[in-house]
Amino acid sequence: MKTSNPKLYEKISKFDFSDHMLYDYDYEYNCEDNNCDGICRCGTIVNFQIESVVLNENFINKFFRLYNKDIKSDQYIFKYALDRIFESYIKKYDYEIFRPNIIHSYYGEELQGVHLEDFELIELLIKIKNFNHTKLIEQILITEYGYILDSLKDCHYEKEDLHFDDIKILNHKYVQKLDQSLIDKYQDYWSFRAIIDNNYRLIDGYHRTMAAKDNPNSFYVLRAIKNGHH
Ligand SMILES: [Zn+2]
Repeated sequence: MKTSNPKLYEKISKFDFSDHMLYDYDYEYNCEDNNCDGICRCGTIVNFQIESVVLNENFINKFFRLYNKDIKSDQYIFKYALDRIFESYIKKYDYEIFRPNIIHSYYGEELQGVHLEDFELIELLIKIKNFNHTKLIEQILITEYGYILDSLKDCHYEKEDLHFDDIKILNHKYVQKLDQSLIDKYQDYWSFRAIIDNNYRLIDGYHRTMAAKDNPNSFYVLRAIKNGHH
């Protein structure tokens, strides 16, 4: 597989995620066969396992620097897209998108960071740098759901500052089934809480929106507006 942008591909694939995750591993030794003789030089890393990943605003800002501002859209929407794409991939593939970077040293193996290893994901992270707002938001939806709803076709998106009560939540069955731990996680979410349609109907971001239910403050959402309208 060949990348469309070798320079950015290298930067992304060398980015170290280890400060933003909890992980664990063991060392295995075979000193006798390796003639370690008092000073062990043979430790190998085994059972590397990621326990959790926290890709917060701080992480997104750090990752965003890889692009050197060379993007075609508003940086807030771009950072939101980064956050949503990572969430979607982790939801779909768990932590299999990461691999430990193990290097050989004089005293055995050492863990030097945790990197992304999914070619498709890295290519997507490269491709979006040329997307405008609309394409970025459509890509978030395609990555999460696989397609664009009819009601969102021929739309562009505008930022709106809304209160919880301004948003129409129509799928009450789905609201009952939401994961409370996810809602808790999104109490202080730093980016857009939802994508809504022209009629203020909640489309994407149920957990993030429900997390704002008891919060008197307003928050930003992205509202789809039919092209040709305001
Ligand atoms: Zn040894």
